[in-house]
Amino acid sequence: MAKIGLYLCECGPNIAEVLDLEKISNEIKKDGKVAAIERHKLLCSEDGKKFLAESIEKNGFDRLVIAACSPKQHEATFMDVMSAAGLNPYMFQLVNVREQCAWMTPDKELATYKALRYIRAAINRVRYHRAIEQKEIECNADAIVIGGGITGMEAALRAAQKERRVYLIEQTELGGMLKCHRVLFPTMELVDQLLKAKVDAVRGNEQIEVFENSEVKDVLGFFGNFVATIETKEKEEITLHAGAIILATGAEPFSPEQLSNFGYGTLDDVYIASEFEKVSADRIATKSGDPPKSVAIVHCVGRKNLGYCSEFCCANSMKIARYIKERLSDAKVVQFYKNLCLPGTQYDKFYKETAEKGVEFIRFTDIEVTREAERLSIKYRKEDHTENNLPVDMVVLSTGLVPNSATERFAKMLNIPVDEYGFFKEEHVKLDPVSTVTEGVFI
Ligand SMILES: Cc1cc2nc3c(=O)[nH]c(=O)nc-3n(C[C@H](O)[C@H](O)[C@H](O)COP(=O)(O)OP(=O)(O)OC[C@H]3O[C@@H](n4cnc5c(N)ncnc54)[C@H](O)[C@@H]3O)c2cc1C
Ligand code: SF4
Ligand code: SF4
Repeated sequence: MAKIGLYLCECGPNIAEVLDLEKISNEIKKDGKVAAIERHKLLCSEDGKKFLAESIEKNGFDRLVIAACSPKQHEATFMDVMSAAGLNPYMFQLVNVREQCAWMTPDKELATYKALRYIRAAINRVRYHRAIEQKEIECNADAIVIGGGITGMEAALRAAQKERRVYLIEQTELGGMLKCHRVLFPTMELVDQLLKAKVDAVRGNEQIEVFENSEVKDVLGFFGNFVATIETKEKEEITLHAGAIILATGAEPFSPEQLSNFGYGTLDDVYIASEFEKVSADRIATKSGDPPKSVAIVHCVGRKNLGYCSEFCCANSMKIARYIKERLSDAKVVQFYKNLCLPGTQYDKFYKETAEKGVEFIRFTDIEVTREAERLSIKYRKEDHTENNLPVDMVVLSTGLVPNSATERFAKMLNIPVDEYGFFKEEHVKLDPVSTVTEGVFI
């Protein structure tokens, strides 16, 4: 018959003060399914691990149930102790009574009842565990990078090493969104040179194999052993093997067509920021062919609908203002903003330099773009509730970014959750922002 040891961890006051461990202990004893019940204040501490190892040996348990915290935190810790004590580490069930009971259920009686049921379930389950032997399998050191924008190219260059090949899969051609920009904030350097240097570095790297105009059809496998099916430009299906996958499929600009107050799609000379650099690449001109005498750049277009700040579009608005001022120094350029999102001193400096170049900043609460006679008109309300009107020749709408269709597709294919806005969810937004819950898949 199985000899099960039950350990109740107090976790200082975290568990001991919320759960009635005495009651749990008495109820489990009555069930008669465990050989002994032990308690410890901090089971993961050095003292706690020593206590656990000695107690396993003393009692001769052949399987354990530990009621403590999340398996993510200490399952491996206790499995190591079991291995060192000569027990198969898989003859073990960890019950998360801290996060799932003590921290979730404020009522002591209910929390205790819940914990008791979880522990009973674990005891019943561990009786059926079978010893599993660990075996080593070969891991593939190569990586697949999906998306050949600046992120994907940089990731490929960093991952490529003597012992690691990188397969870079791009559905169109290398470059991504950067191909739409002329200059970059905050340095105002030209994109062409930077992009060319990066593309050349990728193409010139013998450890990187680039598949352009190609699509990932399917990915199977797991960390260290992924198998991807790729459809190439020639419509050939090929199979790639890799140990890790990096998703760098980017996002796309929000389209404000459904927001009628901005006139996008209905009024001439109203552009979204991502179009502006393309249409003004050779010359900044209105539809009539004349250079604009005044341009309004409207921030936060669609932010309310999206529910989040995209964090780059304030800086991009200033870049556009400077781009215009550098080419049309007499033009009046006005930034209509709600909040300024300029993280770090570098962007603060960028803002000050922009203002020094004669770019005006007006804070608005409501705004409407209309056409009156020959010119566009910005009707806006300020924070002091005054209503104003500014005639302009061109309007640039600063929109944020939204997930593209690749996000949903790869989230399903690779079993990665998305956040409330549809973007890939990080393993931990601060502590592990490039990992996902699927081991070996990075964002
Ligand atoms: C209007 C605008 C102006 C900006 N200006 C600046 C600036 O001045 N300075 C600055 O630092 N940043 C700027 N940014 C931000 C910058 O463009 C982005 O941060 C950067 O380009 C993101 O690069 P990325 O590689 O992550 O994504 P992207 O550039 O979007 O690249 C993603 C790539 O993945 C590919 N892809 C998508 N789906 C698939 C699939 N299923 N299979 C294979 N490939 C796929 C796409 O074709 C694309 O090539 C600006 C952004 C916008 C919208
Ligand atoms: S094992 Fe978990 S529950 Fe116990 S003391 Fe350590 S962190 Fe707290
Ligand atoms: S314009 Fe500025 S404040 Fe508005 S969403 Fe973009 S970064 Fe955020």
